[in-house]
Amino acid sequence: MAALSQGPSPALTSSPRLTDSHGRVIHDLRVSITDRCNYKCVYCRTGELGAQYPELGIEEYLRLISLFVGLGVTKVRLTGGEPLLRRGLIELVQELARLRTLWDEPLDLALTTNGHLLESLSAPLKAAGLQRVTVSMDAVDAPTFERITRVPGSFETVLRGVRAARAAGLTPLKINCVLLRGFNDDQIDGFARFAREEGVVVRFIEFMPLEEGRLWTPEIVVPLKEIVDRIGRVLPLVELDAREASETARRYGFADGKGEIGIIAPVTQAFCGACSRVRLTSDGKIRTCLFSQVEHDLYGRLRAGAGDEELREYIFRTVQGKEARHHIGEPEFMKPSRSMVHIGG
Ligand code: SAM
Repeated sequence: MAALSQGPSPALTSSPRLTDSHGRVIHDLRVSITDRCNYKCVYCRTGELGAQYPELGIEEYLRLISLFVGLGVTKVRLTGGEPLLRRGLIELVQELARLRTLWDEPLDLALTTNGHLLESLSAPLKAAGLQRVTVSMDAVDAPTFERITRVPGSFETVLRGVRAARAAGLTPLKINCVLLRGFNDDQIDGFARFAREEGVVVRFIEFMPLEEGRLWTPEIVVPLKEIVDRIGRVLPLVELDAREASETARRYGFADGKGEIGIIAPVTQAFCGACSRVRLTSDGKIRTCLFSQVEHDLYGRLRAGAGDEELREYIFRTVQGKEARHHIGEPEFMKPSRSMVHIGG
């Protein structure tokens, strides 16, 4: 990282677009605005709810995000922790909705949530300029759901949140479900029906070694192929074309044309070659990969008084060093120091 302290990059002055040394264009920024969460999902948390890392002020997130947008980012997803817990969220969304990309267009502005507070926040978020939400749900029956979240009444609360988000027009509404073998893989068929009945796109995600505890094994991952086969036996599926090269989910429609599911398979069908993403943690560190072993202290530079030009230069050079790929399942794999909830999922 010594290169970060060198003079202005010729590449930055001639072309402001973020790229990495592997030729990928980076246009997608995920920003965690708190690492607190009101759920204690058993595969994610050890049981603590509180923050492990500091939060920045809303104005500071805005300044840092604006710098990324000035470098070609077109898509911003707010996440956490649980982003709906964050005071100032509506104001942040309002300001982000006013930003314009390098191509003078509004940002593609989305948020990932557990949905617990979505019933009351959907309409204000939509009015503030949020375009869509992704809601995480790991079961479609209440007892299993509540066993996972460890919060009584959470299933009904989230269902009301999902319906409120759809009614507010935060669409297309996606539901993300992380599957763990022997734990919630009995929910697959139910989710397929849920997608059709609720008019949502359900996306199954392969479990990655990013939990606080030590749960992950290759055997616990339910691979893409198995998910497709299992749904296909009950409701025939047809594979759909990707909408863009960097799309993480393989898309499938139901053969009768009603409804869609997706499968995100970072473990069995890694999509690192098409990755267009970087992350900013709640304490203002850049992570160029979920599995990065190093973090880059962007906020530290801001706090030390760096001007926009210096911060842009830092972002540009940091992103240049983005990892080629993750190494899940390989002998040299090392778990990152932060788990998913503290990185920003
Ligand atoms: N609280 C918000 C939520 O529930 O969507 C945002 C943060 S949460 C960490 C983001 C997503 O990461 C959730 O869908 C969660 O299920 C997923 N997740 C957590 N641990 C994971 C893991 N080890 N592998 C894959 N996905 C994981």
